Amino acid sequence: MNRYTRILAIFTAAYIGLALTWWSFLLFHKNEALYESHLQLRALADQHQLVLRPDLPDQATIIRTYQGQRMMIIGESLFILISVSIGIWLIFRSYLREQRVIRQRRNFLLSITHELKTPLTAMRLAFETIQKRQLNPDQLTRLVSSSVREADRLTETVNNLLLTARMDRKYVPRIEARTLQTALENWTAECQSFWSGRHITIHTNSARETPVNADWTGLDIIFRNLVENAVKYSPSDTPVHTSIEVHAGHLTLAVRDEGTGIPPSERQRIFDMFYRIGNEDTRAGKGTGLGLYLVREIVHQNKGKIELRSNEPKGSCFTIQLPI
Ligand code: ADP
Repeated sequence: MNRYTRILAIFTAAYIGLALTWWSFLLFHKNEALYESHLQLRALADQHQLVLRPDLPDQATIIRTYQGQRMMIIGESLFILISVSIGIWLIFRSYLREQRVIRQRRNFLLSITHELKTPLTAMRLAFETIQKRQLNPDQLTRLVSSSVREADRLTETVNNLLLTARMDRKYVPRIEARTLQTALENWTAECQSFWSGRHITIHTNSARETPVNADWTGLDIIFRNLVENAVKYSPSDTPVHTSIEVHAGHLTLAVRDEGTGIPPSERQRIFDMFYRIGNEDTRAGKGTGLGLYLVREIVHQNKGKIELRSNEPKGSCFTIQLPI
């Protein structure tokens, strides 16, 4: 719907509403006038003992007919007015939804281009430097390591995209046994390679060596996306605290940051596909709006729970519960 179609639609809706109200008033007044004249005619006929053709009903019938018709006019007018209003509201609601999808798709295209281009540019720059300059082994190692990191990030973005595409056909949890110790080691290594400059803690107070049956592949994706967000949306000198605990029948993963926080009005929508708070044109941070969507889908497919609350004194706290 472009601007002119929208104006035309609003104008038509307003016209229908006004016309309907006007016709209802007119009908109402015509009914009143008919009632008055029937009453007068009846009184005149009774006074002069006249027999009127066609037969004029008696006074009680005139009053009953008038009241019935009045109720009918009011009732039907209200019914049509409410139906038309609901129809118009549904049309506008679907229009607003369509607009939101268009905006989100545009945001996604902008952000995915950015997400794919940035690591590629960094890697190209590193390779050009290696090609053109005589580097000592130390410099070479640093450049190669940073390129590997960029390649990892690229792989992560592509994996998220592939996983999102597969979500349409439903994510199937894969239950396997892993000890908390293995999970903690894997995640610590991941934190060191991806977010080496950040202070990230991983805490547990459950038995580390007991094997736990859970969707560990899903948990890896959840952990990566939640920590990535915690790192992205909080100042670089603040810590990110994570914890994994096993309780009767379920496993709880929590990620806390001291960042910008998420306003309550946005807490439902941030789990939508492609949704990012704010506007892509003004948003500086990296992202595709897929991370939390994936987290929610994995949690739901595992019949788990996800809770988001504010962290004290600032930031956010995501808590995931998965059955084991
Ligand atoms: P993105 O790729 O943009 O990070 P996500 O689906 O992971 O996409 O998150 C959706 C939006 O939710 C983000 O754009 C961000 O605005 C908000 N968000 C997610 N996690 C946090 C957090 N820990 N703190 C503040 N805002 C967050």
